[in-house]
Amino acid sequence: MELLKDKFGRKFPYIRLSITDVCNFKCGYCLPNGFKIDKSDNRTFLSLEEIKRLAKGLSELGVSKIRLTGGEPTIRKDFYEIVKVIKNSSGINKTVITTNGYKLDKFAEQLVESGLDGINISIDSLDKNKFHKITGHDRLNEILNGIEKLQKLNFKNIKINAVLLKGVNSNDKDFQQWSNYIKSNQVEFRYIELMQTGDNLDYFKKYHISSKVFTDFLIKNDWIIQTLGIDAGPSKNYINPEFKGKFGIIAPYSKDFCKSCNRLRITSRGDLRLCLFGNTGINIRHLIQRDDQTEELKDLILKQLNFKKESHYLELGETGLTNNLSVTGG
Ligand code: SAM
Ligand code: SF4
Repeated sequence: MELLKDKFGRKFPYIRLSITDVCNFKCGYCLPNGFKIDKSDNRTFLSLEEIKRLAKGLSELGVSKIRLTGGEPTIRKDFYEIVKVIKNSSGINKTVITTNGYKLDKFAEQLVESGLDGINISIDSLDKNKFHKITGHDRLNEILNGIEKLQKLNFKNIKINAVLLKGVNSNDKDFQQWSNYIKSNQVEFRYIELMQTGDNLDYFKKYHISSKVFTDFLIKNDWIIQTLGIDAGPSKNYINPEFKGKFGIIAPYSKDFCKSCNRLRITSRGDLRLCLFGNTGINIRHLIQRDDQTEELKDLILKQLNFKKESHYLELGETGLTNNLSVTGG
């Protein structure tokens, strides 16, 4: 089997696949005015059949994990069918999702039944009012209840992500609230540093803060950094034997962040993106129209990997094709 590998020796067992750009939330850093149809691009989102062929081709290239994202992936009417088709007929070992947790209290059972292997839920604050202010929705309780339901159903792989925002969710009181939460909940909570995108420069300037404030809190409170496995993701994790859960930090502006990059992205309309912030994005959709195109598809993806750059150059203010992360799925 020819495996996905780039010229810097990085391997890619992991794909993030956006299945829709549509989202019902209005997160200030992503879609502050809500989702708007992009009139310059009238292509439809990938269909179930196209996703099935794509997943099969990717698994033959050694991809073992697909993360479904968006927009809000659970908004798609055929969302559970997508999970099932990837799980049951593509050869991919793990199917996971990133979601805003909308109606999670209602969906929890169906999610577990679909065979999903893991869920990342975005919760920017445990303070109801702050949550409302950041996302435009007063839905914190239904999300927390949803997590409780997942736990009761013995669903194990739960992660929570929050974007760290200066003066909003970045003080010791916020950190302490999360500490209390993961003391008794076996979930991994990670802060992600706010990233600059094509659309959010003013927001970025106002709210970006280095994750050092959180690292300082962790060190002060006896959290110990966990050594990373070979296929570890971008998160630096911290453990403490007194707690059921773990903490993590995703700091895209840190030195060497790109060295451990093990992911490629595919947009909801079938563009392969080599980097979240890259300027290259070729369309691979024409090669998932028929079952007999798998070899051609694999060949094209392998060739494209030669163009993956060593770093995202975000620190130079380069945001590439990314206007906001609802298109590429974060
Ligand atoms: N709607 C789903 C959600 O919010 O989880 C999935 C898509 S969302 C684009 C994926 C992740 O990207 C979320 O955790 C979100 O907080 C994060 N995100 C979006 N814009 C970001 C930005 N500018 N900087 C850092 N993280 C961002
Ligand atoms: Fe929607 Fe996720 Fe973007 Fe928030 S971060 S607006 S939930 S796509």
